[in-house]
Amino acid sequence: MSRTIMAINAGSSSLKFQLLTMPEGTVLCQGLIERIGLTDAIFTLKQGDNKWQETRPIGDHKAAANLLLEKLISHRIIPSLAAIDGVGHRVAHGGETFKDSALITDEALAEIERLAELAPLHNPVNAAGIRIFRQALPHAPAVAVFDTSFHQTLEPNAYVYPLPWRYYAELGIRRYGFHGTSHKYVSHLLAEKLGVPLSALRVITCHLGNGSSLCAIKGGHSVNTSMGFTPQSGVMMGTRSGDIDPSILPWLAQKESQTPAQLNTLLNNESGLLGISGVSNDYRDVEKAADEGNDRAALALTLFAERIRATIGSYVMQLGGLDVLLFTGGIGENSARARAAICRDLHFLGLDIDSDKNSRNATFIQSDYSMVKVAVINTNEELMIARDVMRIGIAQPVEAEV
Ligand code: ADP
Repeated sequence: MSRTIMAINAGSSSLKFQLLTMPEGTVLCQGLIERIGLTDAIFTLKQGDNKWQETRPIGDHKAAANLLLEKLISHRIIPSLAAIDGVGHRVAHGGETFKDSALITDEALAEIERLAELAPLHNPVNAAGIRIFRQALPHAPAVAVFDTSFHQTLEPNAYVYPLPWRYYAELGIRRYGFHGTSHKYVSHLLAEKLGVPLSALRVITCHLGNGSSLCAIKGGHSVNTSMGFTPQSGVMMGTRSGDIDPSILPWLAQKESQTPAQLNTLLNNESGLLGISGVSNDYRDVEKAADEGNDRAALALTLFAERIRATIGSYVMQLGGLDVLLFTGGIGENSARARAAICRDLHFLGLDIDSDKNSRNATFIQSDYSMVKVAVINTNEELMIARDVMRIGIAQPVEAEV
């Protein structure tokens, strides 16, 4: 029996949504509410080729959610709110508590709020989203899908930082990793496309978008990932620096009297592709500037690729070899140039890409004699969220389906 599932991704001033029919995975509609809290907030709803957009005041997330539900009915996408069978919420941090997606209960919600100390910008707004939709759709089971939970299989050698032990034991400072929903989704789809069980593969997934992270997957489990205690670490990103010498921060605090908030802005919003190029955080803009002769833009692209290559190298060591290198995310799915720069001169690993397949964004872009497969797979976090709502929120006894 088909169910209608809503996937929600609540940000500090935005709310992304997708309504899907499951288990088919058909998208009924999707959209975005931006600039929540302002008088010129923007509501966008897309259904197939139809698109509705309006600018209006939207005071808070509750008003945004109510507007969304109202529009679903007025645009006749659903007959009534009762037609929504379940809701999945993307939640940034599940700490060490949530090793899988979880049915929302009062206890689970309290734990998500407690974990806000690890993700102060994200978990409170995710929790608020859960409360709002629970109130508006009391009949619909809600499931939280965490960015961190896929990485809860990391062993201590991958998640412990070499700091005094109490920082882990008392404050929970460790590598958590993020983008887990995406790494999990693309690795499972890869195994399906190859017709090989994921448990038999050594895979490195590269989720390259505005935020970027890599994941080493062995036997279907995440064994290492480049983001850490926060989504700031690892490879270089659009506006985030990724890993830098940690002592730069206390040095700057002293030298320029920068506050923790200023340092955070520096690392999160002013660095990466934008910081080096001075042009943009958007990969396409930086490519264009590099082609027009901007040397700093060219250096930004080189650094971006080199830091990813260094991470791939260390993961190949950890995996004891490599069967598939996989690209996803806006850059990974679309930029043949980024993939070529990352995969250059890797013949010693038995990895070689076919430039024609690469330029066509084919699903497999390795050359005929490459031992390692190189995949390009579009991520779909909303579908993964909806699947988890079906798996965890909506009981499907086998007998009832026959
Ligand atoms: P987010 O992390 O915000 O979800 P996305 O996964 O949408 O980001 O990725 C955004 C990035 O993808 C931007 O840097 C953008 O320039 C890049 N991108 C999108 N399309 C292309 C393309 N055709 N060629 C190169 N880069 C692209």
